[in-house]
Amino acid sequence: MDSVSTSAPQLSEMSPYDPKYLPAKILLSANESPYDLPDEVRTCIKERLGTLKLNRYPAPLANELRDEIAKANNLSREEVLVGNGGDELLFNLSLAWGGSGRTFLNMPPSFSVYETNARLTQTQVRNIPRTDTFAIDEEAVMNCIVTESINGIIVASPNNPSGNLADYHFLEKLLAATDALVLVDEAYVEFSQQSLLPLLKKHKNLILLRTFSKAYRLAGLRLGYVLADKEVITELIKVRQPYSSDAVSQMIGCCALRYRESFQSGIAKTIKERSFVYERLQELPGVKAYPSEANYILFKVDEAPVIWEELYKRGVLIRDFSETPLLTNCLRVSIGSTEENREFLNALEQILQERSAV
Ligand SMILES: *Cc1c(COP(=O)(O)O)cnc(C)c1O
Repeated sequence: MDSVSTSAPQLSEMSPYDPKYLPAKILLSANESPYDLPDEVRTCIKERLGTLKLNRYPAPLANELRDEIAKANNLSREEVLVGNGGDELLFNLSLAWGGSGRTFLNMPPSFSVYETNARLTQTQVRNIPRTDTFAIDEEAVMNCIVTESINGIIVASPNNPSGNLADYHFLEKLLAATDALVLVDEAYVEFSQQSLLPLLKKHKNLILLRTFSKAYRLAGLRLGYVLADKEVITELIKVRQPYSSDAVSQMIGCCALRYRESFQSGIAKTIKERSFVYERLQELPGVKAYPSEANYILFKVDEAPVIWEELYKRGVLIRDFSETPLLTNCLRVSIGSTEENREFLNALEQILQERSAV
């Protein structure tokens, strides 16, 4: 055959996800940690790698790691599920709570994966746009959940790419007012001052998403987890790929959690650098930076695509969101090491100076 039948109809308007991850000297586009793993974690990995039975399938539900995660969050194993990155768990959520005839409430601009997953699973998306400072339109959301039929809600807090938290009391009110499953995406929770964890026991419809990719410096693995009521976890297990988390990732996740205190200094450094980068961005003429509780900062600047290109020419890769709806002229920079942040700021300052001179 030199032809093939058409793929599923929901794919026809879609294009493959492009993270725009280009080679560069300074990588500040993907919100990774700039730091290598702590020594004690490296040692733990080396010790355990020697005894891993790689000819055998991994523990199907990653129970040892589930127990470690449960312990760290004061929960039980049944309230935890591990996935092949947080992204896989988001997809599982769409499979388990979405589908045709069902509706997801989304608050753009936010993480694009939410809408992609909804499309793939033929779930309808009800978008309630954020305000011009990326705050949730709380009144519109509360109104929507009482007047429309909503099966699932996703709130990123801190939001990606804007960096701001959702208001705790608003989320509490939302959880009480709807029986829709509310996923609070806490991928960046370690850099913020707020988690919804204290509400988990009170609200059966709350599910928290976490990842090892950001504060735990393990983006090279694919490892994320959710915390939720055990009945919610059971539904997610039904749609999950049987061996989605491999043995190496499970083992490394256990080492990271065992020595989780050793990640604290890196988190503190990132938070300190975030203030520095934010202040410097604010001082640059023509730049509007948005306050962030995560390990990145969104900023607005005229001719953002040109600025992005000029930064890239100077070896600095950041993320261009200027083509995304509601994010005209917005760029996002991840917080890197002290040196990387200064190189980025100096390059940006130089570019802005050169452009204002012509
Ligand atoms: C990075 C990220 C995730 C999960 O990433 P994984 O690497 O797949 O674990 C989830 N949500 C948001 C908002 C993120 O930025």
